[in-house]
Amino acid sequence: MSLLNQPISYLKGVTVNKANLLLTELGIRTCNDLLHFFPFRYIDRTRYYKINELLNTNSEVQILGKIISVKSVAQKRGSRLVAKFSDGTGTIELIWFKGQKWIKDSLKINESYVIYGKLNFYNGNFSIPHPEMELEKEANKKIKSKLQAVYPSTEKLQDKNVTNRVIRGYIQTLLKEIFEVLGESLSNDFKGKYSLISKRDALLNIHFPKSNDALAKAQYRLKFEELFFIQLQLLRKKLINKQKIKGYVFESIGEHFNNFYANYLPFDLTNAQKRVLKEIRKDVASNAHMNRLLQGDVGSGKTIVALLSMLIAIDNGYQATIMAPTEILAIQHYNAMKELLEHVNIDIALLTGSTKAKQRREIHEKLEDNSLKILIGTHALIEDKVKFHNLGIAIIDEQHRFGVAQRSKLWQKNELPPHILVMTATPIPRTLAMSVYGDLDISVIDELPPGRKEVKTVHRYDSNRLSVFKFIKDEITKGRQVYVVYPLIQESEAMDYKDLMDGYESISREFPSPKYQISIVHGKMKPADKDYEMNRFVKGETHIMVATTVIEVGVNVPNASVMIVESAERFGLSQLHQLRGRVGRGADQSYCILLTSFKLSADAKVRLKTMVDTSDGFKISEVDLKLRGPGNMMGTQQSGVLNLKIADVVKDTPILQQARNAAIELLDDDPNLSKETNEEILRTYSLLKRTSGIWSNIS
Ligand code: ADP
Ligand code: MG
Repeated sequence: MSLLNQPISYLKGVTVNKANLLLTELGIRTCNDLLHFFPFRYIDRTRYYKINELLNTNSEVQILGKIISVKSVAQKRGSRLVAKFSDGTGTIELIWFKGQKWIKDSLKINESYVIYGKLNFYNGNFSIPHPEMELEKEANKKIKSKLQAVYPSTEKLQDKNVTNRVIRGYIQTLLKEIFEVLGESLSNDFKGKYSLISKRDALLNIHFPKSNDALAKAQYRLKFEELFFIQLQLLRKKLINKQKIKGYVFESIGEHFNNFYANYLPFDLTNAQKRVLKEIRKDVASNAHMNRLLQGDVGSGKTIVALLSMLIAIDNGYQATIMAPTEILAIQHYNAMKELLEHVNIDIALLTGSTKAKQRREIHEKLEDNSLKILIGTHALIEDKVKFHNLGIAIIDEQHRFGVAQRSKLWQKNELPPHILVMTATPIPRTLAMSVYGDLDISVIDELPPGRKEVKTVHRYDSNRLSVFKFIKDEITKGRQVYVVYPLIQESEAMDYKDLMDGYESISREFPSPKYQISIVHGKMKPADKDYEMNRFVKGETHIMVATTVIEVGVNVPNASVMIVESAERFGLSQLHQLRGRVGRGADQSYCILLTSFKLSADAKVRLKTMVDTSDGFKISEVDLKLRGPGNMMGTQQSGVLNLKIADVVKDTPILQQARNAAIELLDDDPNLSKETNEEILRTYSLLKRTSGIWSNIS
């Protein structure tokens, strides 16, 4: 067994205690872990300062000199250890508060030291607390590097004296021992093609860079490799799924589809809708299983694509289902589908948590005897004892609300898995989609139906409230309807509820009945009451809808033209974008007013400005990713992007693109990685396949 697979305590100088500390604090167990524990920054160690040229503006300095005396100085609590350090041009003080005894014993008087640390200036004297120091003769024996690596650390490690210098020492010992036998994970051809340096040189220079240029090359090689193997896994998984997992074949476009398309389609499809439909048709006509993500901004017209896809399934003798994340949405899908299918003879039903037992039984029967063709519902679909006669396609709306396990549950009811179409109105930045959904096919509706007016968006402070109310009145006079939305954050539900109720009261005062009618919807209401209130608004019986974010997804009231977001600074970008998407659905000019207090964080300012400046969901999602990082974006939890050791999905977009292309090209040429030239790649890939979480994710 190679040293790399051994625990780090096998390394010279690493005690069991230190090994345990490194494991609990940094997750480093084996030598290989240590080798792949990468610095997060570097300091230039080529420059030596002379003591007489130090300025109190210098922050971190390196000096060559000798200790001329050491003493303990009593202070209020305990003492400090002070060493006078001279380089011939002047003296400074080195100071220690912790580990004084141990340090005092180890200091050598009148020997040359290289010291490095943060420079303090106090009472006309320079000092360096807890400097990094090394005897010059020792420093000269080290691997020469121009830049010095700085590793992530923790307080506990600092306390126990496992400093950066110690870690660098361990890595140095390890590198010296294994450098000659360090294996390669990419072939020479491959490295040549993508201008990558050897793995060995990359690892050496990432820890001990010889030059800025060598460091850049090392970083590139290691980032490329990391992203390449993730893409290789995702793309191979997709390939294998295509080969192995069979899907029902929908051979032809039949009667229902053609009838609907020719006679009842309420509008011409946009080019984007046509293109996406073609992509779906191609999938379901092959005998592979469709696993497709449909991304389309709010209002881009995903519903009709869903319906047409379901009609294809039905024409081929199968059933179809739509799963929505909330009851309101399920009802809305149900109503929309029912209306679209008004003149088409297809049985359709709704199943949610509030469906009565009797209806439920009826639905079960009709599903099993195949007379019910479309079932729309919430989680209840999966939890219930629903048995389809033969489910041909499952459409999942807003997938971030559904867990992965739930998705796979759908599969269990069938002989073959139903084709899966996941629809999302939360655009995911392209690069993130590549990493998170790299094994799915992705379709994008990137065009809005014609005639849409952009929603005019403004940011106003709470102090402008009166003019905002005036504006609302004018719009209502014109016959429009208005949303007023309050934040809902799980942790402070009670407080949010109070905000909402206070808001409702003040709006009720400002907009008195009977002239104005107000609906209110929030999470604490019974579903039936919620529906009742929603419906009054949908039917135009109420003018104002006061709500928490329950209306965030999917709700469609074309006559609503104003969206007021209260405490807008508390919403995330994607939520704001979703909320704004509730208006601008009709022919009239619509408005979104973001109300905030005066106190705004820097991030909140960026969010508000982004909303005012653009309505492009993809642009907004890019900003969101930059602000929040991949860890907080939907869907990333199951993916490998959070465990990246060196690459960064936000900053390393170009490398990600190159790595993905390289993986595509490689698999085109050698889908099973069986060619001799790809031997190294296959070996690394097989190893990763066994150990990485990526393999076990989605569907
Ligand atoms: P979303 O993608 O948000 O689910 P919907 O499917 O609800 O969007 O469509 C939003 C609105 O646009 C609906 O009122 C729908 O009838 C309308 N619509 C969809 N496609 C078109 C089209 N090609 N031409 C005109 N109107 C369309
Ligand atoms: Mg929708």
